Amino acid sequence: MKLSWKNFLLWSLPIIVISFFIWQGFLAPTNNELNNSNMNNSRMTYGRFLEYMEMGWVKKVDIYDNGHTAIVEAVGPELGNRVQKIRVELPNSAPELITKIKKLNIDLDAHPSKNSNALWNLLGNLLFPLFLIVGLAFLFRRSSNSNSGPGQAMSFGKSKALFQMEAKTGVVFNDVAGIDEAKEEFEEVVTFLKKPECFTAVGAKIPKGVLLIGPPGTGKTLLAKAIAGEANVPFFSISGSEFVEMFVGVGASRVRDLFKKAKENAPCIVFIDEIDAVGRQRGTGIGGGNDEREQTLNQLLTEMDGFEGNTGIIVIAATNRVDILDSALLRPGRFDRQVNVDVPDFKGRLAILNVHANNKKIDSGVSLGIIARRTPGFSGADLANLLNEAAILTARKRKNMITLKEIDASIDRIVAGMEGNPLTDSKSKRLIAYHEIGHALIGTLLANHDLVQKVTLIPRGQARGLTWFTPSEDQAMISRSQILSRIMGALGGRAAEEVVFGEAEVTTGASNDLQQVTSMARQMVTRFGMSNIGPLSLESEELNPFLGRGMNNNSNYSDEIAIKIDKQIQLIVEECHIKTVKMIKENRIVIDRLVDILIEQETINGDDFRAILNQYTNIPNKKV
Ligand code: ADP
Ligand code: MG
Ligand code: ZN
Repeated sequence: MKLSWKNFLLWSLPIIVISFFIWQGFLAPTNNELNNSNMNNSRMTYGRFLEYMEMGWVKKVDIYDNGHTAIVEAVGPELGNRVQKIRVELPNSAPELITKIKKLNIDLDAHPSKNSNALWNLLGNLLFPLFLIVGLAFLFRRSSNSNSGPGQAMSFGKSKALFQMEAKTGVVFNDVAGIDEAKEEFEEVVTFLKKPECFTAVGAKIPKGVLLIGPPGTGKTLLAKAIAGEANVPFFSISGSEFVEMFVGVGASRVRDLFKKAKENAPCIVFIDEIDAVGRQRGTGIGGGNDEREQTLNQLLTEMDGFEGNTGIIVIAATNRVDILDSALLRPGRFDRQVNVDVPDFKGRLAILNVHANNKKIDSGVSLGIIARRTPGFSGADLANLLNEAAILTARKRKNMITLKEIDASIDRIVAGMEGNPLTDSKSKRLIAYHEIGHALIGTLLANHDLVQKVTLIPRGQARGLTWFTPSEDQAMISRSQILSRIMGALGGRAAEEVVFGEAEVTTGASNDLQQVTSMARQMVTRFGMSNIGPLSLESEELNPFLGRGMNNNSNYSDEIAIKIDKQIQLIVEECHIKTVKMIKENRIVIDRLVDILIEQETINGDDFRAILNQYTNIPNKKV
């Protein structure tokens, strides 16, 4: 039975209070006689009462309530000359009153209140501790009987309810796709868990801790489970945020419990999700120190040092913020191995789609390659979600095979939000049509621009019309001319509004486009050295993790340079704008035609768009 003093006080206090009230409320008798005595509510002051006594009008005095109240039977002219019972509040302790009453030979009776009744007193004194003992015993029993559910009242510091243990995860490496490097790294770990002799024989030490670093949804948890599954060992998991509790010391004791259980079940995997919640750099001062977190982290470090390298416990931690982790965590002997799990590339996405398509009925006409092509930036979890959404959509339509149509609709929905109702207002619809065709036209005519996938007037999320592009895969390195093409493409919408409707009629619809344009131009100047200022890096993307975005501007240049930067940004955007407007003007005829088609059909797909445009002008070939 684990019971610390803190817990004892915490729980016995309310019980004492509650029992006290029970005792007071249920057992303390109320003086019914006093309340029920049949008197007609008449009262009299103490002074008047004394006068009455002097006059000999008082017949009888009954004293109640420990001498605080008296019921007086009196006759007098004021009382209509008949005997009446009158209530008198007596001043505190009036012993001379009693003597006086006796002297005047008035009938006197005292009614002690039941409160001072010896029997009641005794009972109350006995019952109160009894309640206490029974109450405490009840709590003890509950807390020692079960360690989960409502019975955990007494077991604050125990983490049993908070870490999960899976004897068999049922996940194997084949369920994890697209992150082959990380998988290879872990095959060794699995071998160690299965055949530790191979390593210990040659004196090798296996790392105790592996840190999985990667954005959310890339399969970190899945991978950790797969290791346990492959090695056929139990899987203990807890999330970093669960360590951090309101009470100081609870987190540390949870760590202790977790490792105690793990040692009992070795070999096993201990998985700590979101380790950044406890393991962030200590003592940065910003945001206030957190003793609890530091204690928890210290305990974690102690535990990791405590078990010998070959006990068979491997701690796997996951985070997407390795930059804020305390360096003590990354030291050799702790999480000295780091494995990066990144958002998958085309091949990775294809592999993940294959894994998740396995248990779904997908039409044979669907090429997973096309889906993988359309989903750059999707994580494994996004892709799993995508196929699930498509399956739900299929079921809703009462079809029995998932087709490309449902998958496409799901992608659109995940990327741009829910589909809205088609627009009706013809004037603004026309303007939006010109805006979108503007984007699509510029995007198609520029050789360096991503391929147009479709243009649509069906609103989605915040957008009232959308032009979709199929991004090329290699987004890691982008050339100057590619960025310029993107700026022009983004300006295409506003440029079309200007040319067709005139400067006065342009709308706020382009604000998002302009934001992107400005940001791209700014980065060209300050980060990529793509302007007349020269190859200088003036701002870095690095963010101080303890400050909010925007609060930290890593700019360390003079005001003079700042003015130059602004000039260069303006210059880039202006140049692109002029070129874009020119292209729109040159293609006005085909734009009008495309707008008519778009308004009629609501959506034009990329191939149709290019086919129509091709009749009027030469369009560059693009590889997908
Ligand atoms: P993380 O822990 O990195 O946030 P999870 O491991 O919880 O991500 O992934 C959530 C879900 O997404 C998994 O259960 C799985 O269905 C899917 N998933 C993510 N990455 C992959 C992958 N590489 N291969 C297969 N499925 C994946
Ligand atoms: Mg996870
Ligand atoms: Zn736009």
